[in-house]
Amino acid sequence: MLANPDFRAITTDRGVGVTYTCGCPCTPAAVPAAAGPGFEHCCCGKVHFAGPGAAAALDGYLRERKANRKREPDYTRGSATVDLGGAATEVAWAFPVEA
Ligand SMILES: [Zn+2]
Ligand SMILES: [Zn+2]
Repeated sequence: MLANPDFRAITTDRGVGVTYTCGCPCTPAAVPAAAGPGFEHCCCGKVHFAGPGAAAALDGYLRERKANRKREPDYTRGSATVDLGGAATEVAWAFPVEA
């Protein structure tokens, strides 16, 4: 059982988003947009969404990958809430089971 990653706010050139310590050299940032949650699928296979409806967006994203890819890992999933500029922001994450 994985603990929640250390999600926190990050300012990017795309706006304020949510990042975490990934374990690879990247700083993956999911930046919510007006149209819906933002996400980043890191080179190491971990994916996270941030913004209203993050869990539902992650559901759809993973379902589509499962349907269209030959080799798609199983994921451990979870959710969290991160304060972005005073607004509690929904975060949903999925990390490959054997990353
Ligand atoms: Zn990476
Ligand atoms: Zn990574």
